[in-house]
Amino acid sequence: MDNKKLAELMFPNIDKDIEYYEQKYPNRNLPKGAIVTRFAPSPTGFVHMGSLRTAFIARKIATDTGGVFYLRIEDTDEKRSVENGIQGIVEDLENFNFIIDEGRISETKDLGIYGPYLQSERASIYKTFAKHLVEKGFAYPCFATEEELSKIRQFQESKKERIGYYGLYAKSRNFEIKEIESKILSGEKFVTRLKSPGNFSNKVICADLVKGKIEFPENDLDIVLLKSDGIPTYHFAHLVDDYLMRTTHILRGDEWLSSYPVHEQLFKIFGYELPKYCHVAPVNKKDGDSVRKLSKRHDPEAALSYYHEKGIPINAVYLYLMTTANSNFEEWLEQNPKSNLNDYKFEFKKMSASGSLFDLDKLINISKNYISKLSAKEVYDEVINWTKIYDKEFYDILINNKALSIDIFNIEREQKKPRKDFASWSEIKENVFYMFDDYFDYKKVDFSLVNNPEKYKELINLYIDKYYNESDDKNTWFRKIKELSTELGYAPEMNLYKENPTKYKGNVADVSNILRVALTTKTTTPDLYEIMRLLGKEKIAKRFNDLSK
Ligand code: GLU
Repeated sequence: MDNKKLAELMFPNIDKDIEYYEQKYPNRNLPKGAIVTRFAPSPTGFVHMGSLRTAFIARKIATDTGGVFYLRIEDTDEKRSVENGIQGIVEDLENFNFIIDEGRISETKDLGIYGPYLQSERASIYKTFAKHLVEKGFAYPCFATEEELSKIRQFQESKKERIGYYGLYAKSRNFEIKEIESKILSGEKFVTRLKSPGNFSNKVICADLVKGKIEFPENDLDIVLLKSDGIPTYHFAHLVDDYLMRTTHILRGDEWLSSYPVHEQLFKIFGYELPKYCHVAPVNKKDGDSVRKLSKRHDPEAALSYYHEKGIPINAVYLYLMTTANSNFEEWLEQNPKSNLNDYKFEFKKMSASGSLFDLDKLINISKNYISKLSAKEVYDEVINWTKIYDKEFYDILINNKALSIDIFNIEREQKKPRKDFASWSEIKENVFYMFDDYFDYKKVDFSLVNNPEKYKELINLYIDKYYNESDDKNTWFRKIKELSTELGYAPEMNLYKENPTKYKGNVADVSNILRVALTTKTTTPDLYEIMRLLGKEKIAKRFNDLSK
């Protein structure tokens, strides 16, 4: 067979050769050990939490080693593409402060010199590589129709043989060039198939970075490289793109593991160094007694927009993802409380081969902890960013009351055990609204929430007239609440009350709670002394006054 002629017949318009592209995309000039890796989603318009996790690990190892992380959009499968699907992915990543060194940065733009980073813009590159394979006798055109292929499948099924286009079943392998020529010239459609040199009884080993060594039979399937419209299959695009983009590490879902023998074979045929592989098991979720994949359809937390809308801090999500990625990370963080993710070095050895469970409650806890360690100013800035998008009214209030807001966020913060009230910025308002007159409504105060509130009017009036003094320190403030309690027949100490409950109307905690509910409508709040200090006399008096009407 004249392979050169065949290649020309199949790809008459391809005038470049693979050397051209090899030179155009040279080896990267990076320090030894630098990892080049990528995130390669289809343009589905959103990033799934499981994909973010894999991409986050890839980003981390690239950063740790002084390497490169890029974003490639794989739009060869029309079923997985949606309109503006790239923009959605770019936005999801941006909202997660996810930095890419190069790759697709919008529907139409690339950053970096190893592009285009959108597969549909690489058609002539794939064809050049396919043409090269034909020339070398490793690929051929296949004209088999769907019906013919399905007949082969049915026959193989009936004989309990392996399914696929291989060996004796691969009839198109043996067509004469004349026959091919007349078919092509008459416009018959064909796919480009690999002429696999493999033998099914040989073994290949995938040295997966997490799963360890996995043995497979060598590939002997004449898999499709280019579909009849010239669009590559995942397998062929993986070879071409990851080679030309000089990728050193492939982190991908473990549904690709079984295709490893095909990929290994393609790299071998071209004589290219095989990248390292890490097949990542899916992120699962506990559902009652069973475990299933975290799914966008059933689990809102599978979509990144969920975290953005709720205002769950991105850094908390990343901390959580690292706890699911490396088994010793939590312990490390406990031992290095002042450190952050950048100080931690990811290790494949510490990654579980069998996947991880996504535990939103745990993420929420990590988030509470994370927020509790921020300064009041940092909290303020984050809340400003979030409310600017999701709660404009509250945003304006916070902007107009900056100093007060920071003081509010500072209540019980700078101390050994800071409060851990909230896990997200969307919970802030419900926790602090009463500090602002715009949101406090005395008609919502419900004294039936507290014990022994019968004398509330007398209590709040007596307090403001006789006991309250704006400049009191905390001890004096509390002593006065005890005095107020005594004057109104409430026990000033808990133990006195417990010894003889019938002697009193209630106790000092009831008195504090009446004041608390009167000023905040809530029965639990951070430190009441601090709340009163920040509200100040005028607001307190006004609220008490309204309640006494
Ligand atoms: N587009 C492929 C997917 O979404 C990428 C797999 C890979 O990273 O190689 O599964």
